[in-house]
Amino acid sequence: MELYKDNQLKIYNSLSKSKELFKPVTEGRVGMYVCGPTVYSNVHLGNVRTFMSFDMVFRYLLHLGYKVRYVRNITDAGHLENDADEGEDRISKRARLEEIEPMEVVQRYTVDFHETVAEYNFLPPSIEPTATGHIVEQIEMIHEIMAKGFAYEVNGSVYFDVLKYNESSHYGILSGRKMEDAIHNSRALDGQSDKKNPQDFALWKKADERHIMRWPSPWSDGFPGWHLECSVMSTKYLGEQFDIHGGGMDLKFPHHECEIAQSHTCSGKQPVNYWMHANMLLLNGQKMAKSTGNFVLPKEIITGDNSVLSKAFAPSVVRFFNMQAQYRSILDFASDALEASEKGYNKLMEAVNSLDNIEANKTSTFDVASWRQQCYAAMNDDFNTPILIAHLFEAVKVINQIKENKASLNAEDLESFKATIHAFVFDVLGLTNETKQNGSDKIDGVVELLIKLRKEARDNKDWALSDQIRDELIALGIQLKDGREGTTFSIN
Ligand SMILES: [Zn+2]
Repeated sequence: MELYKDNQLKIYNSLSKSKELFKPVTEGRVGMYVCGPTVYSNVHLGNVRTFMSFDMVFRYLLHLGYKVRYVRNITDAGHLENDADEGEDRISKRARLEEIEPMEVVQRYTVDFHETVAEYNFLPPSIEPTATGHIVEQIEMIHEIMAKGFAYEVNGSVYFDVLKYNESSHYGILSGRKMEDAIHNSRALDGQSDKKNPQDFALWKKADERHIMRWPSPWSDGFPGWHLECSVMSTKYLGEQFDIHGGGMDLKFPHHECEIAQSHTCSGKQPVNYWMHANMLLLNGQKMAKSTGNFVLPKEIITGDNSVLSKAFAPSVVRFFNMQAQYRSILDFASDALEASEKGYNKLMEAVNSLDNIEANKTSTFDVASWRQQCYAAMNDDFNTPILIAHLFEAVKVINQIKENKASLNAEDLESFKATIHAFVFDVLGLTNETKQNGSDKIDGVVELLIKLRKEARDNKDWALSDQIRDELIALGIQLKDGREGTTFSIN
């Protein structure tokens, strides 16, 4: 269904710093690129929040009927320790410390990342390209930037000439940084760098003798600068100008600013129409980060094995907790906040579970059409999941009133009500129903089958068989109830 035709989706664009009506380059299709993990250690819960926000965006775009090409890369080379042009490559360093091959580090933490996102019910992206798989294309882009006169070589390394770029374009267009603040390292200030200006950033770095990950290039045996891979891979898979580019707030500068400069130099166009930045998850009032030790691992949530946790929590509870905040707001992680989310999640799932037993009435006492429209309006307002969840809890109230015969829905409304709840809870928010015990849906199926066989026996006046099915189910604690609209059951 092409729901996008009836929905005016607005997205907060970090480039214009305002909410804009979303209009894709090609009608009905969306190209979306999100900066993926650097696979040198386990992702922490703060990283998971960022990726989960874009999983929700991906899910809602799919729900609206867009054909989405979602590219989320894996950084497996080129990301230096301090995010700038200094220090050791994060993966090389880990390999050296553990005395294993860099590709063993990459393999280990890529597998860990995939396990984590599967546990937290992420939809896989359409393409998941790696930096090391695109060295040839990265070298090509450096040639192109040099040919246009915006990069220079010094001692086997190649740097992007930010000051020259800024003469004809706007470096800082995304982050709002002024040129004097847009400095990429501190060594440059000491005059130890090869760079012409401290604002310049590396496109290619010559590898020193201890650097294990290296590739031949016209300039030196070395490796690409971190910012380059995203320009190369987004252009390759989504084109010179595409719809959405996402990432964590902390990537705005320097990473995304550099991506714009590189891509804009090559194509002469603004590469991205909507820049989206997800906000961070705090722990103890500080940003979660591996470097400071202030973090929780997604696996620890499931086992409860971290002193900041009072107990273990299901992945869906964490997802629900994340979705209770808008993706652009800062969210504070705390065990008691998770416990509150767990209560809310259980209440929501209980209501969803009882939806199957609700029957239609002649009249409706609740305006389903307008409620449904409000759910869409929340999501269309820059993916406002907390408002959506508030509307879902209005539905919970209605479900409970119907159970107490204090409200009713006619057949058409009930169908739309059920479909809308299922779509938003499972497809868009990506929650899974963890309140149903493993296999309980299978038991439901088996009992339904026995009810059908019993009805056939009764239709054939085979009372002995129909009584046998009923009695043996009672012996198992399953009670059948014959009513006007057929037979229902309850399990004790
Ligand atoms: Zn990136």
